[in-house]
Amino acid sequence: MRDDAPRSWDSRAEAATFYGFTDLPSVAQRGTVVLTHGEGPYVFDTAGKRYFDSNSGLWNMVAGFDHPKLAEAAKAQYDRFPGYHAFFGRMSDQTVMLSERLVEVSPFASGKVFYTNSGSEANDTMVKMLWFLGGAEGQPQRRKIITRWNSYHGVTAVSASMTGKPYNSVFGLPLPGFLHVGSPHYWRFGQEGETEEAFTQRLAHELEATIIKEGPDTIAGFFAEPVIGAGGVIPPSKGYFQAIQAVLKRYGIPLIADEVICGFGRTGNVWGSQTFDFVPDAIIASKAMTAGYFPMGAVVLGPELAQRLQNASEAIEEFPHGFTASGHPVGCAVSLAAIDLILNGGLLDNVRALTPRFEAGMAELAGHANIGEWRGAGLMGALEAVQDKATKTPFASNLSVSERIANTCTDHGLICRPLGQSIVLCPPFICTESHLDEMFEKLAAALRQVFAEVA
Ligand code: PMP
Repeated sequence: MRDDAPRSWDSRAEAATFYGFTDLPSVAQRGTVVLTHGEGPYVFDTAGKRYFDSNSGLWNMVAGFDHPKLAEAAKAQYDRFPGYHAFFGRMSDQTVMLSERLVEVSPFASGKVFYTNSGSEANDTMVKMLWFLGGAEGQPQRRKIITRWNSYHGVTAVSASMTGKPYNSVFGLPLPGFLHVGSPHYWRFGQEGETEEAFTQRLAHELEATIIKEGPDTIAGFFAEPVIGAGGVIPPSKGYFQAIQAVLKRYGIPLIADEVICGFGRTGNVWGSQTFDFVPDAIIASKAMTAGYFPMGAVVLGPELAQRLQNASEAIEEFPHGFTASGHPVGCAVSLAAIDLILNGGLLDNVRALTPRFEAGMAELAGHANIGEWRGAGLMGALEAVQDKATKTPFASNLSVSERIANTCTDHGLICRPLGQSIVLCPPFICTESHLDEMFEKLAAALRQVFAEVA
């Protein structure tokens, strides 16, 4: 039913769009921000109001919202060859070139790439690869997947089962065989008097005990984000990946790095696994891989898994998996341009150059009596709100402190993300110091205002 009266963007948005990951009472009260375009790190709404997007969209728009080289790469490829698949022994030339480039920039001496449309699908694909290997190698019982509490791996039935967040219970998830071990967040989970090293060892022991209890030959793989992203920006505790990888190696269990957020520069190196000094067996990539200008994900297999999967596939003639748009030529052309911008066009250098200013701004805000800690790596960080800094006591959840901070920021033209009781920042790689100054000034004002209201 339609009436002829002009309706606001806001009511039109709500009338016909079913929202995901959106607090509906808050939208009912505050309305929907409908956006029309962007300039550099800013986005604009239908009323012309400008917002600095300190979350780079969803961590992905690392080159900002109007980069000509990415739009040109897409346009040129649309003109040349606008779409194709990667089935039946056919694929586009762009797909071939991107695979070579991804292997070249990976931490692996050799490897192979499989394409998806998203990070969730890339995690699903990797799990299916591990299940496929178990079957092909005479170990059909090797199906269990281990991840960490607080991790985020996606929303498909498998990747949501991997995600260590309680909200997935509304779907009756996780599926059987998806196990979770402790999150490496020392500030929150370290015990009284426990050193960070001892905390790491405790987590490694917990992992080993889980493997032994479940049966080592039932575990197909362990997935971890180098820095947990959507779980609240949690870098690993000291020595974490070294301790974990030693356990996994003892039982022949592959370590898969979910680099969907960290990959392509966010932590100051191409890969988060480089920043935290480990080499995984495979990498899950997405987001910055196309600077958010095309939906795309990838599994990048290291040499051993690539060879084993090749052998297993040849044994039954094919790996029966793939998406219509896997290896889409436009996505591949955009990704080649994005990787070039990041590695050769100064974006990664800029992440490194801006990191000291970012850290100083975070440290300054963390001086507030109601900020318990700041944490992060490169250009990603979180500020954790607490009611009592000494005891780390959180605010009562019904105060919705982080949501209030984020809403106050939005009112003042700054988009930032509330996650639990923390505020997450991950600005685009094209920012300048003055952009960061603007971000920190606006956030500081919002923190002062909201803490004065609730403290
Ligand atoms: N893994 C990680 C680490 C992520 O942060 C995300 C998305 N935020 C995903 C997987 C899922 O990616 P997508 O939303 O593209 O399916």
